[in-house]
Amino acid sequence: MDAKQLEDRVSAQNYAPLDVTLVRGAGVFVWDDTGKRYLDMMSAYSAVSCGHSHPRLVAALTEQANRIAVPSRAYRTDRLGPFLAELCRLAGLDRALPMNTGAEAVETAIKAARRWGHDRRGVADGAQEIIVAAGNFHGRTTTIVGFSSEAAYRRGFGPFASGFVTVPYGDADAIRRAINPNTVAVLVEPIQGEAGIVLPPDGYLAALRKICTDAGILLIFDEVQSGLGRTGRMFAFEHENARPDGLIVGKALGGGLLPVSAFISTQDVMDVFDPGSHGSTFGGNPLAAAVGLEALRVIQDEKLAERSAELGAYLLQQARDLRHPAIRAVRGRGLWVGIDLDPAQAPARAVCEALARRGMLSKETHETVIRLAPPLTISREEIDLGIRLLREALDEVAP
Ligand code: PMP
Repeated sequence: MDAKQLEDRVSAQNYAPLDVTLVRGAGVFVWDDTGKRYLDMMSAYSAVSCGHSHPRLVAALTEQANRIAVPSRAYRTDRLGPFLAELCRLAGLDRALPMNTGAEAVETAIKAARRWGHDRRGVADGAQEIIVAAGNFHGRTTTIVGFSSEAAYRRGFGPFASGFVTVPYGDADAIRRAINPNTVAVLVEPIQGEAGIVLPPDGYLAALRKICTDAGILLIFDEVQSGLGRTGRMFAFEHENARPDGLIVGKALGGGLLPVSAFISTQDVMDVFDPGSHGSTFGGNPLAAAVGLEALRVIQDEKLAERSAELGAYLLQQARDLRHPAIRAVRGRGLWVGIDLDPAQAPARAVCEALARRGMLSKETHETVIRLAPPLTISREEIDLGIRLLREALDEVAP
């Protein structure tokens, strides 16, 4: 029995992976078990923004692994302070609470907002409301899927938590109308990733900042996918100078090597956590902190946000210039582009399969969207290669 058959037999079937068995990665390329090379235009949903197995990150990982990796938060370590200080400096916020996955950091933000609403705003415990947007993706815990718009994420998994009010994404007035005395926070993605790279109207983030300030509630941005250079700025909120009260980061924070996430916030909000109120065995461990800090340094040293702005504009233009009849729309910001396909002509999954045959990895969303989200280290020539392969794949699926 080969590795693929074994996986099919023993793994839960909660994914439908493309039929590619990856064994190695370096920079923007990955290789399968036959030695075939693929251009990675997904970068693990932005977790691999620095590229696969970046030498500096691998060095930070191995160096720290040889010292101490997971002593737990029951003790101090020499790595946590420097890591969180850099995270806070970049975010322009005061304190950070490290976790592992994006969903855990979102849960942390929800807890912080609810307790803050209770302690500071006098909202009765259990009555706190958080406003979220339709089409959101914030993770897979039962609390989080409870306010997802996707039936597949929810079916049979109830009962779900109350206290979430869903409004249309991109509609600032709907948020204004939804605010009531029990509202403690607004939680949105500055650009919706899993929804298919959906950009809100210009001015939306700034409008939310003003609405939340005026109402005396918290603005929380989930930048698990949009953060750390992906959209052409360190954080997507910078496009509208809309610094949130709480910022959630993950994915690229682990340098493509580890799960590392954090909730970053103001002193006032973070003060709601007292010893014993929240935690994680692995959150902020020295291995994660060493790699996380090095990832933040690599992103800055290699000017990955600036690269994302410049090369993302190029990628967007090249994708628009494809002008294939199966393409309905092309949108994006930075190296984060969504291509909307006519599913009758070119089902997105079929295009992804054709791409894989040609040596490029992407991921379909809702059978209608192809995502292009390469490592931010990608070059112009590699973008040209990706666009050429995409043209060929579209021509094959929808001739
Ligand atoms: N928030 C956003 C915006 C995401 O895109 C994701 C993952 N796609 C998550 C949260 C959840 O992250 P994780 O899978 O690490 O729990």
